[in-house]
Amino acid sequence: MDVADIRNLMRKTQASILKNGFLGKPSDDLGNVVASDGVRAMMESALTARDRVGVSDFVLLENFTSEASFIENLRKRFKENLIYTYIGSVLVSVNPYKDLEIYTKNHMERYRGVNFYEVSPHIGKRYDLRHIEEEGDGARREFPPFRGIPLNREPSELMLQELVWSQKRVENRLKQQRGTDSSDVYAVGDNAYRSMRTERKDQCILISGESGAGKTEASKKILQYYAVTCPVSDQVQTVKDRLLQSNPVLEAFGNAKTLRNDNSSRFGKYMDIQFDFKGAPVGGHIINYLLEKSRVVHQNHGERNFHIFYQMIEGGEEDLLRSLGLERNPQQYQYLVKGNCPKVSSINDRSEWKLVRKALTVIGFNEDDVEELLNIIASVLHLGNIQYGEAEEGNSCITSDTQIKYLARLLGVNGAVLTEALTHKKIIAKGEELMSPLNLEQASSARDALSKAVYGRTFTWLVNKINASLTYTDDSSKHYSVIGLLDIYGFEVFQHNSFEQFCINYCNEKLQQLFIELTLKSEQEEYEAEGITWEPVQYFNNKIICDLVEEKFKGIISILDEECLRPGDANDLTFLEKLEDTVGGHAHLVTHKLADTKTRKVMARDEFRLLHYAGEVNYNVNGFLDKNNDLLFRNLKEVMCMSENKILTKCFDREELSDKKRPDTAATQFKASLAKLMEILMSWSRRTSAASSPMTPSRRFDEVLIRHQVKYLGLMENLRVRRAGFAYRRRYEVFLQRYKSLCPDTWPSWQGKLREGVATLVKHLGYKPEEYKMGRSKIFIRFPKTLFATEDALET
Ligand code: ATP
Ligand code: MG
Repeated sequence: MDVADIRNLMRKTQASILKNGFLGKPSDDLGNVVASDGVRAMMESALTARDRVGVSDFVLLENFTSEASFIENLRKRFKENLIYTYIGSVLVSVNPYKDLEIYTKNHMERYRGVNFYEVSPHIGKRYDLRHIEEEGDGARREFPPFRGIPLNREPSELMLQELVWSQKRVENRLKQQRGTDSSDVYAVGDNAYRSMRTERKDQCILISGESGAGKTEASKKILQYYAVTCPVSDQVQTVKDRLLQSNPVLEAFGNAKTLRNDNSSRFGKYMDIQFDFKGAPVGGHIINYLLEKSRVVHQNHGERNFHIFYQMIEGGEEDLLRSLGLERNPQQYQYLVKGNCPKVSSINDRSEWKLVRKALTVIGFNEDDVEELLNIIASVLHLGNIQYGEAEEGNSCITSDTQIKYLARLLGVNGAVLTEALTHKKIIAKGEELMSPLNLEQASSARDALSKAVYGRTFTWLVNKINASLTYTDDSSKHYSVIGLLDIYGFEVFQHNSFEQFCINYCNEKLQQLFIELTLKSEQEEYEAEGITWEPVQYFNNKIICDLVEEKFKGIISILDEECLRPGDANDLTFLEKLEDTVGGHAHLVTHKLADTKTRKVMARDEFRLLHYAGEVNYNVNGFLDKNNDLLFRNLKEVMCMSENKILTKCFDREELSDKKRPDTAATQFKASLAKLMEILMSWSRRTSAASSPMTPSRRFDEVLIRHQVKYLGLMENLRVRRAGFAYRRRYEVFLQRYKSLCPDTWPSWQGKLREGVATLVKHLGYKPEEYKMGRSKIFIRFPKTLFATEDALET
């Protein structure tokens, strides 16, 4: 077989691929052309290799309603280390749980400021991207014919590159038509940045997915991307450093090992990054959502408390530990032993400690701030070690004063007053103040409430302090653009699910609703702008579940609040009964009493089950009322208000003591803050198309898990909405320019109106009326195959 034969073969191969689309199988006659078995094997392997890659945008799936082909495509890509795939502007990612070396500076440079079609979609390490970009990228050159291929290469190598190139051609063309971006988390970041710069629109990147899916990692990658690629000046450098360094600090205080993720975010985070008119990051602002405070005093088996405790104990210098009265052994602390898991193989607490200490300095904490902060962290551990004994009549007393001594010093409070507040409750009867003794159980929960309050408020202080250091100080120009980044705790289901999971899953339910609404909205807006009739899309709207949780009067939160405020015999079980009475018949709620026999077997008596979008979760009501009330006895508040610790004086305000109104419950506060967040995200979406990034976690490609998440993330729903009407749309001038050679009336140029030119062209091509619609400035094509056929026509 000589060179001419090989060329011929390659030409046929390429034509076949273009003909079949890159989803198509190699045509049967392909092998017949091959003269030698070796070359045939080579070609087959090359074709299989190409087939393995899958499509980089799910809208290109021919069978877009089939979950099986959706998952098959994810699997193909995952195997090839292609963890990112688009659904329009939504980026789907599968957590590889290994470093793919795709986050290097080189990669950042590749995505920086280029248009989407200039960067190749991820093809994986097997292929030489640079070669393809230089030689075959449609954006730079108009696809040179084969003559450009140097002949001194091995045929197999050539073949592979050509095949990839062919695929790229189609992909790039489709992308040009659709106007979507290349498939990478950097591309999402860059796209948001460019839109913000060029269109002067604020942008927002939403990241959603189950716990452990990789949301936090993705948000950090995007932040790093901005830090590396945006313009710099001295002042900007400081802001950049602070933005980056806020992560290790917030993670130390707000993340913990759970059964699902060694570094699980136990708080929600919405971060604004502010850019000046030159596109340099000049400031930022963080809003935090509901920290899982209960973790401070209790952890489930196999889980840990917040990282900072272990970091301090493992990494703190000898002098520091001595002055804080701590031992270098987490097993010594009641608050750290509950999960029986002090060490985690994937975490090095000692080196993390060093990073966090350094980060605090970068953010602008001085020595005093750090000292007071560490005093508070140590105090929480001492509080946990307070032992109660029984005094007369079942009243509690503190059996050892070692902890009180440390606490008095570290918190800057009077030891005797603290002791009294930890064993008594102040009540006001007929205008007189009385100290009523607490029994053992009451005293322990008062102590735990104090620990949670101290830690929780310190966390909020920390966020405020970081915000102060990120505040944009240049008064001369108040105008800046913003990119918002949302990284919130993922949907979670454990063996035992409590109030925290209820709140977290409710939050995810709201986010899901937002995703679908945004997708629908942007599609609808485009159709409206183009004067194309919008056809209603059938999809599951999870509003019904959101309403069940949050509706006024008869939502679960309202019922819970009612029980929290009801004097007398209200408890967790009466709350459950109320649920049964009020929303017992709801299609998405089941209680033990109301369940069918099969479900009853997998539910405890004190549980209720919600049929979430993501699946069924049983919530145990035990502790719901206490956690929702989140009460701290008045005398404990008073002690904290007297603290000499400067952080605590900011956290415990005296005004709070004179406030007669009962503070909102935890769930109601959360509901209100989520409503605000949704408002921000929705209003932005009016000005911008929100890039979003659902994630799915997998160490290997676990089909059951992936299928569950495809469902939970509403990906099929999302794809259905995208593909409901027209898969592709393209501006008239671009369409005409590209395909004018296919029709004698439009070739070599069309003199009339563009719309009419396109109408003439598609008529000549034989488009059927149901295959397309003509908008104001764009043609809308319903199926990918129509487009593939037109592309094929160009080749012949
Ligand atoms: P949670 O809701 O519990 O906070 P999450 O979605 O934020 O979960 P991450 O903490 O971002 O999850 O990711 C979990 C782990 O998965 C990381 O610690 C890391 O080991 C791995 N991981 C995530 N993304 C990637 C990635 N792109 N490449 C390699 N490993 C990753
Ligand atoms: Mg996270």
